[in-house]
Amino acid sequence: MTAPAASARATGRGGRAGLPPRPPLKVFHLPGGEGYRPTHSLFQGRPTPYPEVPERTAAIRAALAAREEFALAVPQPVGPGVPGLVHSAPYIAMLDTLCARLKPDEEFFPAVFGRYPLLLASTYPRMQAGYYALDTTTPLVAQSYAAALGGAAVAAAGARALLAGDRMAYSLCRPPGHHAGRACYAGYCLFNNAALAAELLAPLGRRAILDIDFHHGNGTQDIFYERDDVLYVSIHCRPEQAYPYVAGTHDETGAGRGRGYNVNLPLDAGADWPRYAAALETALEAVQRFRPAALLLSLGFDTLAQDPIGAFRLEVGDFLPMGRAIAQLLAQVAAPLLIVQEGGYHVPSLGQAALNLFAGLGLSAEPATAGAPA
Ligand SMILES: [Zn+2]
Repeated sequence: MTAPAASARATGRGGRAGLPPRPPLKVFHLPGGEGYRPTHSLFQGRPTPYPEVPERTAAIRAALAAREEFALAVPQPVGPGVPGLVHSAPYIAMLDTLCARLKPDEEFFPAVFGRYPLLLASTYPRMQAGYYALDTTTPLVAQSYAAALGGAAVAAAGARALLAGDRMAYSLCRPPGHHAGRACYAGYCLFNNAALAAELLAPLGRRAILDIDFHHGNGTQDIFYERDDVLYVSIHCRPEQAYPYVAGTHDETGAGRGRGYNVNLPLDAGADWPRYAAALETALEAVQRFRPAALLLSLGFDTLAQDPIGAFRLEVGDFLPMGRAIAQLLAQVAAPLLIVQEGGYHVPSLGQAALNLFAGLGLSAEPATAGAPA
């Protein structure tokens, strides 16, 4: 990336020997998310522990807070108009209304699913939810709507930093977003943080979203599938083998004006860094051909071998060359980068993986220790 100009906030003590000082990277994060803590999903009718816990983003935040290359920042709140950039108004209204009616300890799953208008005509929001739920991975709790708005605020703050001239920003979002489509929630995702940030970045010109979460971002694909101003490129586990099962094949390339602007690069379960790196090279070539004015990175750490729900075999140290490859692309296209947090569920690995990625992106001259976590 192009080194931003030094500012009064730059300390010059970042260990980038021989390089001019630069401002610390803004890391947007909403404190106080501990109250949003669903306890379980339903898979094939059975409860399973909910891995999308507050400790995930807290671990990343703690790792970055200890270093002067990063500056933690709290975003301004947003209203429903911001998720309304990418989600339908009735979907947002359902979330708001239903969550307000849930009991404090209630975890709600729809009992009836289907794309039937009669569900929407119901005055009973518990029935309406089934119209918008793709699966039973994600219970709604009383705090879900506020948490989703918080994630949107974090993403929006990162986008606004880029609009103000920052060359890189990190939106440490929770809950994640890339499974949430225009009118559906799924896979621990309620509002699509990367997608709404991409819409906010429209004044810059064409945007590319590179999704490196283990799972395919079916929601992001859904939102931009017929668009030619936003390129979506995803490396993920083959949908025949992993969630979301219903999208992510190689032949899903976009429709209408969007034909050719959706690139899926599915890999078999068990993929290690050499296989992943080859797909990443293909993905970066696609982004380079598109010549975006801004790049968004949907960042998942569930590609790690230790991840409890992913099935790839990346190591923590692999995020260092991954960051270097992305930095090389940024230099080629001269585009700013917004990093938006998606998944990653092995809490002890997350801080070190993030530090390695940022070291590869050039945030510090000395790479973080690349070894496996304790
Ligand atoms: Zn994931």
